Amino acid sequence: MITLALSKGRIFDETLPLLEAAGIALRDDPETSRKLILATTCRDLRVIIVRASDVPTYVQYGAADLGVAGKDVLDEHGGQGLYQPLDLKIARCRMMVAAPRDFDYEHAARQGARLRVATKYVQTAREHFAAKGVHVDLIKLYGSMELAPLTGLADAIVDLVSTGRTLRANNLKAVEEIGVVSARLIVNQAALKLKRGVIQPLLDAFARATA
Ligand code: ADP
Ligand code: MG
Repeated sequence: MITLALSKGRIFDETLPLLEAAGIALRDDPETSRKLILATTCRDLRVIIVRASDVPTYVQYGAADLGVAGKDVLDEHGGQGLYQPLDLKIARCRMMVAAPRDFDYEHAARQGARLRVATKYVQTAREHFAAKGVHVDLIKLYGSMELAPLTGLADAIVDLVSTGRTLRANNLKAVEEIGVVSARLIVNQAALKLKRGVIQPLLDAFARATA
């Protein structure tokens, strides 16, 4: 038996077609059944539902053999113990610095001003601003980052952006791109050696489906 860790929402929704391409369907619907362990039509594969940021942890410790996680989440986690064979090219977005529409970010950064930046992605933000030589105080948040500049908690945020609609609705604008993000397949390194017979065909099917 192998275990695939997925998170609810876009990762789950966009991984289903890849499983289908591998001839695998789910026997339970996580939206209606409250189960966290889902059986599939493949005897050898089950799916577990975890928080997006917990997927690398489950795979790192071998509690799941495989998982699907955003590059954003993997960069924060660090990727220890994980083999990353495939960019699934799903759940695509961009990691951006955003600020209020009337805030001159470029100017403030150039002046060497100390900026307060709120984000869920503290590691990514720290590396980005250090590389640019911009001085920042980072404030860790767990959600609704857009609210931080509107309430005076921060000058800017680091967050994922896809359409930019949420930014616009909150009078914010993207001021700098940190990088593009998509979901990756991750595999526990020991599991890949011990269960290659079951895991490799799945990797091959995913690779064909995303090519
Ligand atoms: P959560 O809010 O619990 O982290 P999401 O479904 O919002 O769950 O995000 C899961 C993953 O989907 C993120 O880690 C990221 O890789 C990706 N993602 C997040 N926001 C977006 C977005 N706006 N567009 C596309 N992909 C996104
Ligand atoms: Mg979200």
